[in-house]
Amino acid sequence: MGTAHQPSHKGGTRYEVSYSNPWRIHERRETRFRRGVLQVAPTGVRISNRIAIVIAVLILKKMTASTPTILALDFDGVICDGLIEYFEVSWHTYCQVWCPANETPPDDLAAKFYRLRPVIETGWEMPILIKALLEGIEEENILQDWETIAKKILQEDHLNSTELSSKLDKTRDDWITRDLNGWLGLHRFYPGVVEKIQATLASYSLYIISTKEARFVQQLLSQQGIILSSEKIFGKEVKRPKHEILRELIQAADTSPEIWFVEDRLKTLQLVKQQPDLEDVKLFLADWGYNTSSEKATAQHDSRIQLLSLSQFAKDFPMNYARSY
Ligand SMILES: [Mg+2]
Repeated sequence: MGTAHQPSHKGGTRYEVSYSNPWRIHERRETRFRRGVLQVAPTGVRISNRIAIVIAVLILKKMTASTPTILALDFDGVICDGLIEYFEVSWHTYCQVWCPANETPPDDLAAKFYRLRPVIETGWEMPILIKALLEGIEEENILQDWETIAKKILQEDHLNSTELSSKLDKTRDDWITRDLNGWLGLHRFYPGVVEKIQATLASYSLYIISTKEARFVQQLLSQQGIILSSEKIFGKEVKRPKHEILRELIQAADTSPEIWFVEDRLKTLQLVKQQPDLEDVKLFLADWGYNTSSEKATAQHDSRIQLLSLSQFAKDFPMNYARSY
């Protein structure tokens, strides 16, 4: 086949694309123009087949970049709402540690605890949050300065986070052993999420990255008919931050994977964002989870983090759902 050839009457540099190899571009410089006979002289700018293939692959990659190869989901606040269970387990753990005279929580305590759940990263902080509320620390202060407040309470009461964490997990384990159905019944899966996960499992490699123990996650998912092998669930027991787990997923993949990570804790996403080697991981803040309105507003103005609603997630995510970065 020949080349697309249409004489220009304006002269200057012209580019011609070969139909037999559309990536081979000839640059020809017209030596005479605005005359009856066009004379051209090849100037030697030619793209080799190898470079043409590389360009084609890059273009194809860009075209298919709107879907991930790995979908990584947080559990609490993205898949499952466990607020009632958190409060119950935290209150029982608080009672073991601080031995209050009255083991019935004040009426307004649960509502305050639910409002402040966004400050919690890991389970051991939850009984500390109850202690902070009972000490009368203002909710606004807790929202603004939780890390300092939590550390101060740990130090003043000679506690350590590992022990507190073990106590909380033991409370949870005892409850599961005693009354599995009662414990499962305190959890609510967000509408449409179970169906989305089941549909996703067939098309994408799905991982759960949680700060909850993996065995609890597995228990809750299996109750919904979602069977995930233990290597697909990274829980608190791996003792590594979520960005390190994302890094490991990339390192373990045969080819460079396209990872999308959905998380409801803004600070966790911001930490991923700070890792230069994770710049290709797409980040989504689940706006239905445990985050505040100011955190949602921050995400909305962040060029890297995309705010995601539950209806978007349940409907057309991840297919056809990517902002151009
Ligand atoms: Mg979460």
